[in-house]
Amino acid sequence: MNKNNLFHDIHEECGIFGIFGHPEAANLTYLGLYALQHRGQEGAGICSSDGVKLYLEKSLGLVAEIFNEKVLRNLPGHIAIGHNRYSTTGSSTIENVQPLMATYSLGSIAIAHNGNLVDIDGLKSRLEKDGAIFQTTSDSEIILHLIARAKDGQVHERIANAVRQVRGAFSLLLMNEKELIAIRDPFGIRPLSLGQLKDAYVLASETCAFDLIGATYIRDIEPGEMLIIDENGARSIKIFNSVKKAHCVFEFIYFARPDSYIFDHTCVNTIRKELGRQLAREHPIDADIVIPVPDSGVPAALGYAEQSGIPFEFGLIRNHYVGRTFIEPKQSIRHFGVKIKLNPVREVLKGKKVIVIDDSIVRGTTSKKIVKMIRELGGAKEVHMRISSPPTVGPCFYGIDTPTRQELIASSHKIEEIRKYITADSLGYLSLEGLKKIIPNSDLYCMACFNCKYPIEFEHKKITQMELFS
Ligand code: AMP
Repeated sequence: MNKNNLFHDIHEECGIFGIFGHPEAANLTYLGLYALQHRGQEGAGICSSDGVKLYLEKSLGLVAEIFNEKVLRNLPGHIAIGHNRYSTTGSSTIENVQPLMATYSLGSIAIAHNGNLVDIDGLKSRLEKDGAIFQTTSDSEIILHLIARAKDGQVHERIANAVRQVRGAFSLLLMNEKELIAIRDPFGIRPLSLGQLKDAYVLASETCAFDLIGATYIRDIEPGEMLIIDENGARSIKIFNSVKKAHCVFEFIYFARPDSYIFDHTCVNTIRKELGRQLAREHPIDADIVIPVPDSGVPAALGYAEQSGIPFEFGLIRNHYVGRTFIEPKQSIRHFGVKIKLNPVREVLKGKKVIVIDDSIVRGTTSKKIVKMIRELGGAKEVHMRISSPPTVGPCFYGIDTPTRQELIASSHKIEEIRKYITADSLGYLSLEGLKKIIPNSDLYCMACFNCKYPIEFEHKKITQMELFS
């Protein structure tokens, strides 16, 4: 199978938010999406309902650029769902921005999806043969078609049957004129939390969205659960048999905001700091200062500094008005991007032995530029790179936008080779054992990006494994 097809349009790490029972549902969804902006900067949308009809506004761009008072006025009602879409190569089109909405025999329905489905090709061609016309290249649309094409059953049954036919990672918010429905895949790969704001129910990928609107975090949507919220309250149905959970560990490493609590009330900041402490225990080195690669390396650098007793400093300053460099599509732009984003503080770095902490190395491009910047522009004497996660060796098929295996530098290079490539004086990664020690109930996590053990069987995985052992 063509590798480009394999990875085309399937990278979707996103943020979702939903609310039921509030007269300002769309305004609060706008705020929720604003707090979840880090989970996707390509486009955003909100769908609302006044109990009679669905209203949809979506566009490419950042949340604050898309929604203003005028746009929000087009979204009346007490129910809303919203979605932030992550930038991907080749699919930055408005059609793919969610929520996706459709009208079918039982009325209207809208969906917001975080995660990736796997093995969709067969399902998609079966639906197409059956007459389905796809409006997007997003895997989430498959679920809508499966719901609409169900021969019989009421809406909840149809939804449950539809999601039972797909596999992969899905934290979903669906709504119709009268209900808000939350579903999480049986592995609980992506986060999805339930909160309360007075009489309203709220749902969000991360609890930082609850904080902004003053909602209280109640619990996570359980893996395999479908929660239906309507004017009579909320009721929960278990729609999948229990399987061993496989939460995404990379949410802790990089993706989620440090002020969020995810995966059963676990504080992201605390985990990141502990990873930094563990890194210091595993890879100590004599140095003058510890500096983070902002922002993702900050909590781990604090942990490393506390554990080692070496002072923490801000040696790199980030321009906060630039998107994450990783998501820029072309190699040339990505190279340029590091300079746009980060600048060294010479007074801090000059003549110093510096420990630099980042959360991960993917292709190696960022680290290489950073080491060069700290040494050449910052004037550092020594640059020691420390990474608060194990080497990234496996691509993610469940929604983290990691590149193909060939592009992952650690999949084909030894640590000493990577050190040479990034031109650091030394390089140390956190061990897999160290990571497992820090993550509570670590056996309930997917760590495929670090150990190539994929919890969900699928065709692409076989290809990855063939590549791995070839
Ligand atoms: P690279 O230059 O490809 O090695 O990218 C490494 C940098 O990208 C690190 O600073 C990470 O914090 C960041 N990073 C890691 N994973 C992701 C991701 N899925 N999306 C965006 N940035 C990422």
